[in-house]
Amino acid sequence: MELVVQKFGGTSVQSKETREMAFNHIQKAIRSGKKVVVVVSAIGRIGDPYATDTLLELIGAGGTKLTEREQDMLVAVGELISTSVFTNMLKEAGVKAEGFSGGQAGIHTTSDYQQAKITKVDPGRILAALEHVDVAVVAGFQGIAPNGDVTTLGRGGSDTSAAALGVALKAHYVDIFTDVDGMMTADPRIVEHAHRLNQVSYEEVSNMANHGAKVIHPRAVEIAMKGNIPMRIRSTYLDGMGTLITGQEALTEKKDVGDRLVTGVAHVPNLTQFTVPANGTAIQKQAFQVLADAAISLDFINISTENIVFTVPFSKKEEVIELLKTLDLEAKAIDNCAKVAVVGAGITGVAGVTAKIVSALAEHQIPILQSADSHTTIWVLVNEADMIIAVNALHDIFCLG
Ligand code: ADP
Ligand code: MG
Repeated sequence: MELVVQKFGGTSVQSKETREMAFNHIQKAIRSGKKVVVVVSAIGRIGDPYATDTLLELIGAGGTKLTEREQDMLVAVGELISTSVFTNMLKEAGVKAEGFSGGQAGIHTTSDYQQAKITKVDPGRILAALEHVDVAVVAGFQGIAPNGDVTTLGRGGSDTSAAALGVALKAHYVDIFTDVDGMMTADPRIVEHAHRLNQVSYEEVSNMANHGAKVIHPRAVEIAMKGNIPMRIRSTYLDGMGTLITGQEALTEKKDVGDRLVTGVAHVPNLTQFTVPANGTAIQKQAFQVLADAAISLDFINISTENIVFTVPFSKKEEVIELLKTLDLEAKAIDNCAKVAVVGAGITGVAGVTAKIVSALAEHQIPILQSADSHTTIWVLVNEADMIIAVNALHDIFCLG
C-alpha cells in the first residue's frame, strides 16, 4: 500500500475554513490512490478555546500544583479534540476514516513527561485500520510511557510524531503542512524578502531548525534523516510543492544546492547571557555539574581562566541564579539577548564569511555581544532590540533575497 503522512499544524486546523483547505490535500492524496495518515496539532493558538496554551491557562500556567505527569494529561487533550473534530469532518464528507490517540497509534515514549522521546512506533494498529479505511487520523505531540501514562513530546512535537510514523509506516513522503509555503531563507515574519528554498538536505534543515527556524522541529528532521524518508514543508492554503527535504544525494537541483554558501539566517529571541566569576578548574567543574544535573542546556559557552559565560532561555534565568547561589556564585545576567545564526552547508573553510558578518553588523552599529562557530554555522549574540535589523542585514549581505 502506498502511503503518505500529512501533518497539519495549529493554524491549519484552527477554523472550519482552514480545515477544509487541509481536507483538499487529503482528498488529493486519496484520489491518487494513496492511504493517508493525518497527524494533527491542537486547534489554534493562545486565546483559542482548545489550544495548548489556553489549556495551560486553566491551571494558572507557571504556578500550577500539577505534576508534569498530570500536566501531560491536560495538554494531550488538545490534540484529542482536534483528532475527533478532524475525523468527524472526514466522515461527514464521506471519507472512510478512523481516529487514534498517540498511544493507540503505537507511539511509545520514555516517561520524561513534557518532553518525552519516542522510543519506538508499533504501526500494527494503523496498518490494520488502513486495510478498511483510507485515512487514519492521529493525535500529534503525544505518546504512551512504558507504564501506560500519557506523555507529550515538547513544543513542535507533532512534527516529530509525523516523522516517526512516516518512518515506521515506510511512507512515500511526510508532508508538514503549515502557514508558510516552505522552508524560507529566513523567517518571513521578519524578513520581507525571504524566499522559499525548493530543495534542501536534511543537514541544512536540521541546522536551520536547531538554530531557531521554528517551521519544523529539529528532532523530526533527525528522525526522517535516520529513516531516509523524504519530507516536504508545504502550505495548507496553497497548492505548491513547498520545500523538499531529502538526503544530499537525492537532491536534483544539485547546482543550486552545491553553489549555496549560506542556506539561511535563523534567530532565537528571549535569551539571557550569564557571566559567572568562576575562576579555577574546581569551581568551574562544580558550576557546570550543578547546571547539568538540573538538565539546563546552555548555549554560547565560553570558558576562560577568569570566568564562564553562557546563555539560557530567559525562562530558565531564575533557576540558574538559584543553582549558582548554592555554590556561592554571584553571576551577572544580561536579559533581552538574541542569537542570530548564519547557517550553511558550505561555510566550512570559506575565507571571509566572518568578515562579511562583522561588517554587515558594523554598518548598522550593531554590537556583537558574543560569537561562536561550527563547520556549518556562525552565530552572533546581539541585543534583542537589534535582532530584526541584524537578521535582515545578514540576509542581504549573503544575497539571499
Ligand atoms: P505550525 O503550527 O503549523 O506547526 P509553526 O508556527 O510551528 O506552525 O511554524 C510556522 C512558522 O515558522 C511560520 O509562520 C514562520 O513565521 C516561522 N518560521 C521561522 N523561520 C522560518 C523559516 N526559515 N522558513 C519558514 N518559516 C519560518
Ligand atoms: Mg510547528
